[in-house]
Amino acid sequence: MTDLTKKYDVLVAGGGNAALCAAIAAARGGASVLVVEMASKFYRGGNTRHTRNIRCAHDAATETLSGPYPEEEFFSDLLQVTKGATDEALARHMIRESKEVLDWLPRQGVRFQPSLGGTLSLGRTNSFFLGGGRSMLNALYLTAESLGVAIAYEAEVIGLDIDNGMFLSATVQRGAERHTVRAATFVAACGGFESNIEWLKQYWGAAADNFLIRGTPNNRGTVLKLLHERGVQEIGDPTQCHAVAIDARAPKYDGGIITRHDSVIFGIVVNKHAQRFYDEGEEIWPKRYAIWGRLVAQQPGQIAYIVFDSSVVTMFMPTLYPPIGAPTVRELAGKLSLDADAFEATIDGFNAAVRPGTFDDTILDDCRTEGIAPPKSHWARRIETAPFYAYPVRPGITFTYLATRVNQETRMLMRDGRPSANMFAAGEIMAGNVLGRGYAAGIGMTIGSVFGRIAGREAAKNARN
Ligand SMILES: Cc1cc2nc3c(=O)[nH]c(=O)nc-3n(C[C@H](O)[C@H](O)[C@H](O)COP(=O)(O)OP(=O)(O)OC[C@H]3O[C@@H](n4cnc5c(N)ncnc54)[C@H](O)[C@@H]3O)c2cc1C
Repeated sequence: MTDLTKKYDVLVAGGGNAALCAAIAAARGGASVLVVEMASKFYRGGNTRHTRNIRCAHDAATETLSGPYPEEEFFSDLLQVTKGATDEALARHMIRESKEVLDWLPRQGVRFQPSLGGTLSLGRTNSFFLGGGRSMLNALYLTAESLGVAIAYEAEVIGLDIDNGMFLSATVQRGAERHTVRAATFVAACGGFESNIEWLKQYWGAAADNFLIRGTPNNRGTVLKLLHERGVQEIGDPTQCHAVAIDARAPKYDGGIITRHDSVIFGIVVNKHAQRFYDEGEEIWPKRYAIWGRLVAQQPGQIAYIVFDSSVVTMFMPTLYPPIGAPTVRELAGKLSLDADAFEATIDGFNAAVRPGTFDDTILDDCRTEGIAPPKSHWARRIETAPFYAYPVRPGITFTYLATRVNQETRMLMRDGRPSANMFAAGEIMAGNVLGRGYAAGIGMTIGSVFGRIAGREAAKNARN
């Protein structure tokens, strides 16, 4: 069993992408490293287990990427989704470093594959992990172990001793035992607070009881809160998060990617009063999929239904759950427990508003509605071919953006603006520095890999001095 009594150069809290990149970089920098991961070995790796790809800048096509993705374009994509809510210097630093990470990850054993056909059209910008996030993690763990990194599983950081911005030790609970773990430097890489429903309730009220968490139940923000209480500067709006519409039948935690619905643009979305509430065809799906979690969160009972007919049923990626089907609109309403008159009126009103056009789901086509609110700006087609279908959806929270403030070395900044003497942060726990709002697919892993690598490097340097 990993020795928790020894003093290490670098203590890394967490066991996902950010933590492992930090641990490997620190070990390569000559440091002795201990990783404390709350999960068991089987469940190690937090939300990273569920991932499929990473967004990195690159100047030319590669074996697995279909074309260049220049730094400026990456930055402009980030600006667009965050609407400017980003630390520009840090974001540019991340994007610059992401170029190196694209080569660095394969050197740590991670393998890429060309993008699979699917709904998000990312073949030029994003590198897909061969075997998915779990394979990626297995490769990183193997490399870390081969470099001598000590890993403690089922070990949770529950307390931090910090004196005037300087980390002294962490209290780690492993089984029935509590250990005081000392280290010269500390890297916090243990996620946001998305799995802590009570904390989410502070901002969302009772609605948070109806949220589903797409990833690990372990990211409860314990370390994030401790750091803020011990004087580390906060950054980010606590209500901002990445949230998508996922199947309402998904488990409370860890449902992963197969519960996400990408069928919104092919139909309409109604709330429990059978009313539409947002333009389902506002923009191409990769630019809109991440807003639907919040939209559903704002509806009564935090439930909504994606409704479509049999003419489109094979046009999108199926999910784990089959759609609920019925031969008539009224019977479908019955199965969804919606008011049949209201549901029929919504579909009739929508159908009457659809203008003729040429359907093409790969572009912003000219199929739109006229005279209804909200409009459906693209891909609007009448819902009229039986049988009729619906997916019930709820907000699926991916990760939160409230964060510890860091500088370009990923060193935490204290409330008075001073950099901490020996504390660094990487991944979700500091994502809010770059993501004030919005999301561009694959950037969660960029934040983990780039800042994890920097944190490990800097922590090792710090420990040596
Ligand atoms: C279904 C799903 C699909 C996704 N797909 C993608 C994708 O394709 N591309 C992308 O870029 N992003 C994706 N994301 C987001 C991505 O998972 C995260 O941005 C990224 O994995 C965060 O890495 P991390 O290391 O910061 O956190 P995590 O990977 O979540 O790791 C946090 C770790 O900290 C541990 N921990 C928590 N608290 C403590 C504590 N007190 N003590 C010790 N350990 C603790 C947890 O057990 C966990 O191992 C997806 C997320 C989900 C849920």
